[in-house]
Amino acid sequence: MRRAIGVTISERVSAGMVEGNRLTGSLQAYPGEGCSSDELLSMPADGIAECIRDQVLAAAGEEPVAAVGVGFPGIIRGGVLEESPNLQQVKGTNMRRLLTEMLAERGLDAPVSIYNDADIMAAGLAATRGHLDRMVRVWTLGNGIGYGQYPWSEGAWEGGHMVVSLDPRERYCGCGGEGHMEGIMGHRAMRLRFLDMEPEEVFEAAGKGDARCAEFVARWHRALAAATASMIHLGGPGKFFLTGHNAIHVELPLLNRYLNDMVKMSPLQGYVFEIVPGGDEIAVIGAAVNAERSASA
Ligand SMILES: [Zn+2]
Repeated sequence: MRRAIGVTISERVSAGMVEGNRLTGSLQAYPGEGCSSDELLSMPADGIAECIRDQVLAAAGEEPVAAVGVGFPGIIRGGVLEESPNLQQVKGTNMRRLLTEMLAERGLDAPVSIYNDADIMAAGLAATRGHLDRMVRVWTLGNGIGYGQYPWSEGAWEGGHMVVSLDPRERYCGCGGEGHMEGIMGHRAMRLRFLDMEPEEVFEAAGKGDARCAEFVARWHRALAAATASMIHLGGPGKFFLTGHNAIHVELPLLNRYLNDMVKMSPLQGYVFEIVPGGDEIAVIGAAVNAERSASA
């Protein structure tokens, strides 16, 4: 069975060797547990690439490597990081070329692929839950809203910026666009909307009957239902995973009720939501699985 290395870049760079949809050893990570996660934010693109190279080499050991897959937050096209809101300094970097060269200099010749971080989460969930034979989609509900799908296909796929409201006052999205899903559901956007309350407090107050918070929590669910309905109308029904730190606030009966009001055509029924833990390990597996598939295609 072919071995591939997966890498994910979140607050840290994590890498691992994957074989048969499973990690074969422990995750390599930089900075390590308990270290400041701000280090990557101030690191130039070359420094981040060197850091990825070192984690890949540590994960590789002496074993042959068929492919290397790397997940980055942002818009990636042809190995180029076209937009990365959390790591502005890497914008425009051809990370695939840079990493391929850096690894070759150290004797590791393997094709390198770069993916959006939500796409590798979708692939990781598909690989670890026996769904590699079907389409899997995932919403990551965190600071921003990510959309990922497996099998991987070329595109921008900025699903979190889907327009779900025509209200011109809906302009809390970090990208500056009006009416975006992330402007309603993103953690950062919720903090901007409720300047006096943390998002956790908003959900808690809604549960206790606070009218303003309850109205917002309903809108939060309707935004997720609306974006999912659009995806179903485009790509068909199927499995939608929900992950990220704000997925704990999702009330599935409410979400299903709203979605049911939005998707009426009978061939498009048969969608299923599932709330799942994500994490670096799933992302690393997904990056490796995607890279191995594209290397053997
Ligand atoms: Zn936006």
